[in-house]
Amino acid sequence: MAKTLLKVTGLKVAYGGIQAVKGIDFEVHEGELVSLIGSNGAGKTTTMKAITGSLPINDGDIEYLGKSIRGQGPWDLVKQGLAMVPEGRGVFTRMTIIENLQMGAYIRNDKPEIQADIDKVFTIFPRLKERRDQLAGTLSGGEQQMLAMGRALMSRPKVLLMDEPSMGLAPIMVDKIFEVVRDVYAQGVTVLLVEQNASRALAIADRGYVMESGIITMSGDAKTMLHDPKVRAAYLGE
Ligand code: ATP
Repeated sequence: MAKTLLKVTGLKVAYGGIQAVKGIDFEVHEGELVSLIGSNGAGKTTTMKAITGSLPINDGDIEYLGKSIRGQGPWDLVKQGLAMVPEGRGVFTRMTIIENLQMGAYIRNDKPEIQADIDKVFTIFPRLKERRDQLAGTLSGGEQQMLAMGRALMSRPKVLLMDEPSMGLAPIMVDKIFEVVRDVYAQGVTVLLVEQNASRALAIADRGYVMESGIITMSGDAKTMLHDPKVRAAYLGE
């Protein structure tokens, strides 16, 4: 069996008195694409933020490569290969595309290879190349999503966590984003994908987890889940 890269046990996260995540367990193995699906407010974003160290956790543990990363901040985690593409993209709007990509490589100092990786991002997203000197704030939502993904790839992650990359995008852009997620995975990056677009997220994944009101209610092989009548009724509008 593949190595466990990420292991979440008994995770609880609260905002003041509100328990958003109520004790969940899940794991992601090396080379997998795992999708965490569930409706609005289920606790998916909270879970992602807890893993990447941007929210404190109340109970439980998060292990990365067999060691607890509880309490570590995003900076430390990126250095160890755990990168996140946040919900709402979070690009630096007053910086150009090139500068955003360079920021993604802030943990590295191998200059020639950084340039080669920028070129690689431009091959994946030719639109970003065309606009390389434009301020990121002038890009469309879909282009900003591309930039956020490109920026995360610049850290050469082992694991990429993506929070709702398809949210609010036009259908053609959604196609492109899912295609790129699949390509990144095919190149050997392990992916944890949070999505409300359950059918697309399960269609490209190896395994899936369903989250509802702060707990995981279902898990298994992604294709099996995609055909499960309960999942179809609750999340695929059937
Ligand atoms: P979405 O698809 O909207 O991102 P989600 O599954 O990611 O949904 P979360 O954003 O993790 O869900 O929210 C889980 C619960 O925590 C919700 O009830 C939400 O209202 C609450 N919550 C989220 N952020 C905060 C906050 N900053 N302060 C208080 N409550 C919050």
